[in-house]
Amino acid sequence: MSKVYIETYGCQMNVADSETVASILKKSGYEITEDMHAADIVLVNTCSVRENAETRVYGRLAVFRQLRKANPDVVVGVLGCMAERVKEELITKQGVNLVAGPDSYRTLPELLAKSSVSGNAIDIELSTEETYAGICPTRLESNGISGFVSITRGCNNFCTYCIVPYTRGRERSRDAKDIITEALDLQERGYKELTLLGQNVNSYAFKTEDGRQKTLDRRQETEDGTPNRRRETGDTRQETWDFPRLLEQVAKEVPSMRIRFTTSHPKDMSDETLRVIARNANICRHIHLPVQSGSNRILKLMNRKYDREWYLNRIRAIREILPDCGITTDVFCGFPSETDEDHQDSLALMKEVRFDFAFMYKYSERPGTYAADHLPDDIAEEVKGARLQEIIKLQGEIGLASNRSDIGKTFDVLAEGSSKKSKVQLYGRNPQNKVIVFPMEDKRPGDIVSVKVTDCTGATLKGLQVSGVGYQVPASRG
Ligand code: SF4
Repeated sequence: MSKVYIETYGCQMNVADSETVASILKKSGYEITEDMHAADIVLVNTCSVRENAETRVYGRLAVFRQLRKANPDVVVGVLGCMAERVKEELITKQGVNLVAGPDSYRTLPELLAKSSVSGNAIDIELSTEETYAGICPTRLESNGISGFVSITRGCNNFCTYCIVPYTRGRERSRDAKDIITEALDLQERGYKELTLLGQNVNSYAFKTEDGRQKTLDRRQETEDGTPNRRRETGDTRQETWDFPRLLEQVAKEVPSMRIRFTTSHPKDMSDETLRVIARNANICRHIHLPVQSGSNRILKLMNRKYDREWYLNRIRAIREILPDCGITTDVFCGFPSETDEDHQDSLALMKEVRFDFAFMYKYSERPGTYAADHLPDDIAEEVKGARLQEIIKLQGEIGLASNRSDIGKTFDVLAEGSSKKSKVQLYGRNPQNKVIVFPMEDKRPGDIVSVKVTDCTGATLKGLQVSGVGYQVPASRG
């Protein structure tokens, strides 16, 4: 039996995709191995969002070429966004045997067969329909505690700096029934938390084809190929599913699990979603809402489809309906033509919102995007660097203050593993997605533990176990 080693780069969507790939290959008789040197086939699932993500993969491809020198029978394949963006060059310039885009994974068994005959194979066709319906992912690199369930694929937003709509294609929503079946599968396997995934989860929209019960006939198969005879879930008689409905249904179907979701687009963040979170205690109080810039002029150039006022209005709605919600963001500087005034607008917005955490970076042009073709990358590197440092410094102060305000509070923490610094400490996350380290005592990874925060750094909360219920969710106005 041929052994396949899969290495994954990039976002959680890629982790979920690699699990889909593993499931497809296992069903075709391949074995998945975690040992690259024991593998007959090495697949790397790639990301094109930033240049350094691609640089890392090129470094790995050099390592895989050495592997092939030692054993010329090893097949090396590139999957995901780089496959879609770089295409044949991966074969002609990087010595890869197989190239498969994000919508081609069902054809991997045929592509592998073809590459073994002719030396290489490529399929980078994007689809407007592929959602990998009916495939139950094989959980890889999993801690057995937190799992991902993708609910949408692709993106229709075309932010001018972003390569995703070109590498992952148009947005498609997966069948609600498949999503619920996957959630139940995770619960049955003892998982404690699931994250609903998509480039823009809150634009989720699934419509049954005939407006009635299309999905009742299509039974998912479990990982070993046996039909899944669990009860049919969800009210499939209704025609359409939007994100609030899906979120609430998932929360109700797996009441013992904590539910998270990412990423939300500010333009689609509805009050109804917030109310669903408010009335379901097992949906975590955390929203990642990427703002990207605080300048209306730059937001327009980015084609983000909201302005600063809309974004702040959504923040106000979150604070009102979910007073205890953690809010995190992505923000970047140095977009083409960004002035110091635009940059100050970003800093001012950060001061106003006071994010609990932010992913911060400077603009890097991605070939193939609208911005690369039409907006000159005209901000000097030193200016980008200096602005980024200002953003990081400000967020460092805000994040520390946010963590300090948690001292004395008690949270329900899902223990995820042993702390890297001490074997007698566990770490986990609270519903607001903050990492908390606390003494292990009699608890194990996978336990929900009440932890009272006693200290913090800018990055981490520290606490002690206490008995009784965790942080009381304030009465919601949802
Ligand atoms: S919403 Fe914008 S940034 Fe996010 S994946 Fe789509 S195009 Fe890219």
